[in-house]
Amino acid sequence: MKPDPLKALVTGITGQDGSYLTELLLAKGYEVHGLVRRSSTMERSRLKHLYADEQINNKQLFLHYADLDDPTTIRRVISKVQPTEFYHLAGQSHVGLSFDIPESTCDTTAIGTLRIMEILRDQPHPPRFMHASSREIFGTPTVSPQDENTPVNPNSPYGCAKTFATQMTKIYREAHGLFFCNAICYNHESPRRGENFVTRKVTLAAARIKSGQQKSVSLGDLDAARDWGYAKDYVEAMWLMLQQDTAGDYVLATGVSHTIKDLLETAFAHVGLNWQDHVEIDSRFKRPADAHELLGNPAKAEQTLNWKRSVDFQQLVHLMVEADLHTLDANS
Ligand code: GDP
Repeated sequence: MKPDPLKALVTGITGQDGSYLTELLLAKGYEVHGLVRRSSTMERSRLKHLYADEQINNKQLFLHYADLDDPTTIRRVISKVQPTEFYHLAGQSHVGLSFDIPESTCDTTAIGTLRIMEILRDQPHPPRFMHASSREIFGTPTVSPQDENTPVNPNSPYGCAKTFATQMTKIYREAHGLFFCNAICYNHESPRRGENFVTRKVTLAAARIKSGQQKSVSLGDLDAARDWGYAKDYVEAMWLMLQQDTAGDYVLATGVSHTIKDLLETAFAHVGLNWQDHVEIDSRFKRPADAHELLGNPAKAEQTLNWKRSVDFQQLVHLMVEADLHTLDANS
């Protein structure tokens, strides 16, 4: 008898992580199903190369319309697909924006996740579930680096919503015996990162300034520091989590932090420019509350999952600048 295919259902499939995860799962022979909001059509460009491929589209990759605030549509897709693994990546993920739209952030990120868990609990064979959590659950941490045992203390609406969803994932694991995991992700970047995140804003600015299309870039707090990793590496850890014998939570981070100034230096020096000549400070990009430094400890993921990262900070920034230069060149 032919073995059942491995079937993954992915929310947030059109995002940075969703597109990398889809490529990874397809390469591993999975049938991949993605939940797509009707309104996200424009953003589906990160998947364009996959759904334009006749061998893949509707053969290995299937997109379904469903909304996180519409549980009936989600239930229908889950019942129809009967996934073996469920990767929950969807949600409004911009911390700064969550101060402007806290209610919808909580609707999708907190309650939307709970709705999915409730539907999964009702399935005859509940799939393994990975919730993409965030270091925002730690808010402004009193210990550094943070790990899986660091107390939560969110200080943004987004962090609050993620804390709710993270705790619920644990509760469903412990109270209902389900294989539910949290990936507590530190910032992870790539050429597919949205342009309103600081890494991509800087790499794109370096590329545009170098090619004469822009003169300067406006930024907020240059002394803030982040633990930045490569999104492609992080989705691999998400997959590894669901292949273990037992479910658990894992911090995904690099263990090294860099300031926005380091980012500017690395990106601009790569194209032979001095960042001080091109950066303006604009208080609109400063946050009402912002964790000054965030640093994660990836020891558990490294040891338990045997997770290895493929690039360091400098290589990451360089590959992002190169990709932006390449796109500008191709479009000129
Ligand atoms: P976040 O860590 O998830 O909020 O990711 P971001 O890339 O949006 O922000 C990372 C850090 O960069 C935060 O500490 C911001 O305050 C800081 N930052 C400084 N200037 C900017 C800017 O112009 N845009 C953004 N998005 N962040 C900035």
